[in-house]
Amino acid sequence: MAHESMPRRLFWIATTLIALTGALVVALGAIYLSGRATAVPIRLAAALAVLAPIAAVVVLVKRSRLIGAAALAMNLAVALFLTSYCSAPLPRPAPLDGPLPPASPPAGMALLQLPTGVNHRTAAFGYRGGAFSEPREFVMTAALVKHPRGDLLIDTGLGRTIETQLLLMPRSFRIVTDPELARPAADQLDAAGYDRTRLRGILLTHAHWDHVSGVADFPGVPVLVTADERRFIDQGNWITAIARSTPGVRYEVYDFEGGPYLGFPRSHDVFGDGSVVVVPAPGHTPGSVIVFVALPDGRRFAFVGDLAWQREGITEREERPWIVRRSADPDPAQVRDNLLRMAAVAERFPQITLVPAHDARGFAGLPRL
Ligand SMILES: [Zn+2]
Ligand SMILES: [Zn+2]
Repeated sequence: MAHESMPRRLFWIATTLIALTGALVVALGAIYLSGRATAVPIRLAAALAVLAPIAAVVVLVKRSRLIGAAALAMNLAVALFLTSYCSAPLPRPAPLDGPLPPASPPAGMALLQLPTGVNHRTAAFGYRGGAFSEPREFVMTAALVKHPRGDLLIDTGLGRTIETQLLLMPRSFRIVTDPELARPAADQLDAAGYDRTRLRGILLTHAHWDHVSGVADFPGVPVLVTADERRFIDQGNWITAIARSTPGVRYEVYDFEGGPYLGFPRSHDVFGDGSVVVVPAPGHTPGSVIVFVALPDGRRFAFVGDLAWQREGITEREERPWIVRRSADPDPAQVRDNLLRMAAVAERFPQITLVPAHDARGFAGLPRL
């Protein structure tokens, strides 16, 4: 080995480097690239994923058993990690019994969408089995429920102060979160001449940054949350820093005084007419909820918040990939239970439009202002 020519020595240095670090680069690349839809680096990472184990075998056979074995072990670990992005449908839940709960939505009730921004991600980021090569726009959209007894905003999306609000979040979070801003909900409503005194409240699916950012733009409007979510906001973790830093918010805590609803154990009927019914769906946050909306024309919607980010989470019963789940869901077992409850609803009542908070397809049928 001492008399090796320079090109040969360089070849072995490069091969050993690829064998030892290639897999790690692929793993980090998978984490980063699933959150940013960029085709060329995805192809490079795929090529490296093939090259690295080959280099490891070549090093093992021709150069050093120890280094080759270490590189192979690293490649195996990364291969195992990558399988956590593969499809693995949860077992089919027991079928849901009973009819669609009755609702008497009043004439004049309407549902509109207020898109406030988008994160350019991939299907792989959203659910197991999603492709790294398939770009998905993860929308951040508020919904306006117009109701004669007072309008509701379901979440707020990104507000007027999102850029300064994001500085409250850790740098690691900001590296993988780079939203393209559209128009804050408050701007859209003001431009349309909307009478803000019509707003009965802001009904949060949960208190994460992208759902509460716009609360600051609606001073004085009550924010409707469960007791669990109210506690969660106060707990002090960075994940609710934006909610906590918004001054003068008037929280209105509601209970689930109603009985079972579509397989969920309890419910809260906001107007008492079945038009907007909230059920508990904890796991992604302690007080996460699903909001069922019934319109006078017979259409029904399920705003599932971040229970799933894309509808395949429910229709294909695919959880978020392991690494995403670990960072996004403090209680994955509860998320799984509620995912399956919702999957049973979707199977029994396919006419209910599923609206995961970040799935553009759920909002597609809703008019804009
Ligand atoms: Zn969330
Ligand atoms: Zn979200």
